[in-house]
Amino acid sequence: MAILEANNIVKVYGSSSGEGSTTALDGVSLSVKEWEFVAIMGPSGSGKTTLLNILSGIDQPTSGGVSIAGQEISEMAGDELALFRRKQFGFVFQEFNLLDSLTVKENIMLPMVLEKKRVTEMEKKVQDLAKLFDIEIILGKYPYHISGGQQQRTAVSRALVNDPGIIFADEPTGNLDSKSSAVIMECFEKIVEELATTVLLVTHDVFAASYCHKVVFIKDGKIHSSIVKKGTKKEF
Ligand code: ADP
Ligand code: ADP
Repeated sequence: MAILEANNIVKVYGSSSGEGSTTALDGVSLSVKEWEFVAIMGPSGSGKTTLLNILSGIDQPTSGGVSIAGQEISEMAGDELALFRRKQFGFVFQEFNLLDSLTVKENIMLPMVLEKKRVTEMEKKVQDLAKLFDIEIILGKYPYHISGGQQQRTAVSRALVNDPGIIFADEPTGNLDSKSSAVIMECFEKIVEELATTVLLVTHDVFAASYCHKVVFIKDGKIHSSIVKKGTKKEF
């Protein structure tokens, strides 16, 4: 079943009358299945971030629709969409976006605190994710005392605490060396295979994309081509 469907997305920045406007997306349609691991690749300025922002409800398309698990997100009211995003989506960024005043454990817990989850439930969730991503020994540390790779594993854990259906990641390996990039991509593999979550990422990094089941190439705001990797552990 498709968890995400984008239908003929157009995004024009600036005045639509033409003067100074940029067509960032020019009719993009995309279908992502449950438990799929998808990379969107393309040159700088091709529309990758714009597409990710529209699929995840951060930005609105000029025309076209996005449905997640059968619900059209462009028809949702602002507060309904905000709640839907908090429950359904997890986000991972290039810059990690951790809070320096909180420990690793507190950073991971934060989305659960905002959802007013019970302390015992929060503790168990943090321990389970820290074990899965091998960050148990840094739970008491602050972000500025750990490596970039550890910071990104913390951010990935934080993205997962409320059991989202989809993780959106924008250049998740962009600030990491190749060894840490491999570790992060292995974390995403675990997310898909062990936690049955869908992962959609935008990347410039061919090595990172090689972990994905499917790679969609975008150029000048249009889908140019896509490839599906054979021999992935799950058949779709
Ligand atoms: P990518 O992520 O592939 O680098 P972007 O989605 O960031 O591409 O940008 C696609 C095009 O849209 C580029 O020409 C970019 O300059 C333009 N663009 C992106 N965001 C904005 C914005 N907020 N206002 C105006 N133009 C934008
Ligand atoms: P990336 O290459 O990671 O997609 P960019 O450097 O293209 O990031 O864009 C960073 C931010 O600036 C994004 O929020 C994007 O929407 C915005 N942006 C990009 N191009 C423009 C533009 N021409 N005018 C205004 N904002 C822009």
